[in-house]
Amino acid sequence: MDPYLDLCEHQVAQPGTLYVVATPIGNLGDITLRAIQILRTCDCIACETPRTTLGLLSALKISGKALFTYRDEGEEKSAQHLLERLQQGQSVALVSDAGTPIISDPGYRLTKLCQERHVPIVPIPGASAAISALSISGFPSHQFVFLGFLPIKKGHKMQILKAYHDFKGTLIIYESPFRIRKLLELLKTTYTPKRLVFIARELTKLNESFYRGTLDTFNQTSCPEKGEYVVLIGPED
Ligand code: SAM
Repeated sequence: MDPYLDLCEHQVAQPGTLYVVATPIGNLGDITLRAIQILRTCDCIACETPRTTLGLLSALKISGKALFTYRDEGEEKSAQHLLERLQQGQSVALVSDAGTPIISDPGYRLTKLCQERHVPIVPIPGASAAISALSISGFPSHQFVFLGFLPIKKGHKMQILKAYHDFKGTLIIYESPFRIRKLLELLKTTYTPKRLVFIARELTKLNESFYRGTLDTFNQTSCPEKGEYVVLIGPED
């Protein structure tokens, strides 16, 4: 066995337990030892996209695992099915395509159901894009609000941004590369020009890049329309 895995050798998935397992957001090196152990020893892995999870398992040299597709569509039925497996004594690991499950990813209904039915749930913490970006932004971190993906409609987006206008901590937003420029334009019209913005693109990946500056100096060319983005809004400069 790998000498590092000795550190958590005793961490074997327990019967009837749901493990919420964080996986890397790009760099495979960010998988944790506990995540490997749980994925290795659980009876079943509930995942968003089997192909993506199979890629991760293959990199970790884990084979022969039962995969169960768990998505937002039909989540209620899938949650019920997994609950039954857990109640029959199986150990289940819930993963998403990247990062921490439930954080802008499926899984909420399953964890709610397990909590209500007293099924043990264990977190296996690891990467999350929101916290990774916040940790290096230099923005206030004593209080922050995670807004996730804002609604697509401009009016609804604006309503939420306005509601947090006077918040003194940091706002964290996930945005698609196709809407990132529009979001920055909207921020310019909603917040004061000296408000600081931090943009983290492709965290932990080959093309990882960061932009930090005030809204009035922000240039659209800093945001190519591809890759994954986290946008943080901080205080005035
Ligand atoms: N559960 C994930 C987490 O813990 O961060 C988030 C999943 S959500 C479906 C995907 C969004 O997270 C992306 O659209 C992007 O906003 C953000 N994201 C995920 N990976 C990222 C990365 N490597 N760099 C920047 N943003 C990322």
